[in-house]
Amino acid sequence: MINDENIPDRDEGIDGYQKIDRYNTDLIENLSGHYREVLKNIGEDPEREGLVKTPERMAKAMLYLTHGYDLNAKDILTSAMFKEDYSQMVIVKDIEVYSMCEHHMLPFFGKAHVAYIPNGYVVGLSKIPRIVDVFSRRLQVQERLTNEIRDCIQDTLQPLGVGVVIECRHLCMSMRGVQKQNSVTTTSAFSGEFFKQGTRTEFLDLIRSKLS
Ligand code: ZN
Repeated sequence: MINDENIPDRDEGIDGYQKIDRYNTDLIENLSGHYREVLKNIGEDPEREGLVKTPERMAKAMLYLTHGYDLNAKDILTSAMFKEDYSQMVIVKDIEVYSMCEHHMLPFFGKAHVAYIPNGYVVGLSKIPRIVDVFSRRLQVQERLTNEIRDCIQDTLQPLGVGVVIECRHLCMSMRGVQKQNSVTTTSAFSGEFFKQGTRTEFLDLIRSKLS
């Protein structure tokens, strides 16, 4: 997974993250100004000691949390596609997901399980979590996130089928509104072979032990 220390502070790129150029000073300054106003509007004093640097930290955090906008999922997949005869299901499960709901801009987070059945090509396994990150590190709804991951793999790799299951807790549900602390939202998206009962059952059985 990506750690904060992997993200360049300025424009220098590290390991495929060259496209993160959102840490430019103008953007940070502009966003910080808005966050300072937000602090005033909620009744805080942005000049008090603990908050002086908060707007800038918020700006940087927000740019990090939305860095998926700067990444191209198809490029990431095609950079590691290999011709291979393997034709059984490939599953990457328990991929950590951190995203933000587009309705409240509050986090939702949990696990993604992604499977595909190769049709002549496989992709480097580490690229699957990267794809999840590309689409989750932006404003999202869980349903669209699930579909986007499926569609990207289907369109790029053109496998015999793709299965995606995502289970997340939404802070907009647990911190506000209905305050259902332990509810988990599960979404799924399938294509090709995964519409067949047997294939889907195999996939779900293989990830079941982790399903909440
Ligand atoms: Zn929400």
